[in-house]
Amino acid sequence: MAAAVALGVLLGCDASPPAVPDTVTGRVDAVPAETLQQDESTAVSAVDTFWRTHFTELTGRPYQSPRVAGGYTGNNGPSCAGQPSVPYNAFYCLPGDFLAWDDNLMASGYSQIGDSWIYLIIAHEWGHAIQARLSADRVSVAAELQADCLAGAALQGAADDGLIVFEPGDSEEIGQTLAAVADDYPWTDESDHGNARERTAAFNAGTAGGVRACTS
Ligand SMILES: [Zn+2]
Repeated sequence: MAAAVALGVLLGCDASPPAVPDTVTGRVDAVPAETLQQDESTAVSAVDTFWRTHFTELTGRPYQSPRVAGGYTGNNGPSCAGQPSVPYNAFYCLPGDFLAWDDNLMASGYSQIGDSWIYLIIAHEWGHAIQARLSADRVSVAAELQADCLAGAALQGAADDGLIVFEPGDSEEIGQTLAAVADDYPWTDESDHGNARERTAAFNAGTAGGVRACTS
């Protein structure tokens, strides 16, 4: 994905389900820190703008941006309710209403899969902040799959609003990211987040049906 101002190749959005390979292969080039930070800030800005524009109209409730504590490394991140940050993690802290992620998690996914990794993780964690802003009866017990759905709705909505542009390969990258985070990280065991197929279906429900498809 890219910022809409950086007009690259525009293919529109591929609504077909992304392929989910069993293994993640691809480039392992180092990603320049600047590129990573640019994508992180584009993702934050696009997702926040989408929600600020649409949350109230869709839910009748007020929207305030969560705080973005941003990147940390290892145990040096912000603590959440007294718990230290976890290496290779990304999280939304409910009591503090902030998002944070380990830079090494972002960099490794970026180099192995692509920039969609960044967008999806930020949009997913933002989805948890959205759950905290919904009325309780709109929050799914399958909270992780709902966060994936909200991520799909926000990224598709941001593209529809011209905030970001989907590029060739994004759809595959998103499928690979969902597969990787479904089973490759200690912080996302399947019982917690759903398997790759469930996660992809949830994301696609959000891209196809928008926010209401995730909250009804
Ligand atoms: Zn989550």
